[in-house]
Amino acid sequence: MTESVKTNLLDFDRKGLATFFVGIGEKTFRATQLLKWIYQEDVTDFDQMTNLSKSLRAYLKENCTIVAPEILIEQIASDGTTKWVVEMGLGNRIESVFIPEEKRGTLCVSSQIGCALACTFCSTAKQGFNRNLSVAEIIGQLYVAQKRLGDKQRITNVVMMGMGEPLLNFNNVVAAMNLMMDDFTYGLSKRRVTVSTSGIVPAMHRLNEVCDVSMAVSLHAANDELRDELVPINQKYPLKELMGACREYAKQGPRKHITFEYVMLEGVNDSVQDAMALIKLLKNVPAKINLIRFNPFQNSGYRCSSIDTISRFKDILHKSGLVTTIRKTRGDDIDAACGQLVGKVKDKSRRHLKLQNMSTANVA
Ligand code: SF4
Repeated sequence: MTESVKTNLLDFDRKGLATFFVGIGEKTFRATQLLKWIYQEDVTDFDQMTNLSKSLRAYLKENCTIVAPEILIEQIASDGTTKWVVEMGLGNRIESVFIPEEKRGTLCVSSQIGCALACTFCSTAKQGFNRNLSVAEIIGQLYVAQKRLGDKQRITNVVMMGMGEPLLNFNNVVAAMNLMMDDFTYGLSKRRVTVSTSGIVPAMHRLNEVCDVSMAVSLHAANDELRDELVPINQKYPLKELMGACREYAKQGPRKHITFEYVMLEGVNDSVQDAMALIKLLKNVPAKINLIRFNPFQNSGYRCSSIDTISRFKDILHKSGLVTTIRKTRGDDIDAACGQLVGKVKDKSRRHLKLQNMSTANVA
């Protein structure tokens, strides 16, 4: 049997593993034994899993594997932020970023190779979409990152804010987040695992029913006309529906509020009127706002608002009672800041051709 047809056990959360073991005539408690070996004892050699029967070990050796993605490149910024380029096969690469702070260490995890949603200010969007990451490839980012950091730094928080729209890879992302929070793996609290979405409303409702994590919404505009342009998925799920889903989620979510991400684009969404519209929009939503400095990239067509404009924007929100922070920019010198995760993706969407044609047409 070749390696490629073996079952990768990193692809299962506890429930999935229990089903797997029942399927081969074993008891469900094998799932917790295996999770402990892999994630807590750092053992991937089945022969060393001494509390499994000899026959089970032989079966696993024959039919299963435990394979995490591989780190290809590591870059450490002057502020300690670390970016890893991770190989996902067939030349596809994604990026995970670790942000150390005094009292916590946050890992920013990717959920897809590329992204199909075409937000106009996002560098990942420029690559088009290739494919969803598997559970093993998502939990594997945490697995390899924690191994690389060793005992000197613990990952205490995970944000699903890397490449891709997590809620369009729903089942795999939910299974991976369940794994992160499992007491037999990393035991992260549900307040410390955050899923970020551009506003896939039906999936937000579904998430509410199956997984209890914190939520961040990429908002970036306070009216439909502008948001239709910046975050095109808004044309399908406009602000009224999005705010309804946010209110529902906040009722049950672990933080009882939603974090709204708002990237500051000069002359686009940073006026006093924009701030007032934002206050009105979030009137009945338990909200915390994160203002993000835009990190320009080639041909983005946008510039970041000035520091004064961002401060003025923040003050207006703050005075209205909205908890507002300006996100610290981290890892600038290695392009690890928000919206700069590029990786290396084979664009199967033909979006780049469309863009090329569009720009040629514009020139003509
Ligand atoms: S901002 Fe997020 S959802 Fe929008 S294109 Fe970029 S990765 Fe996709």
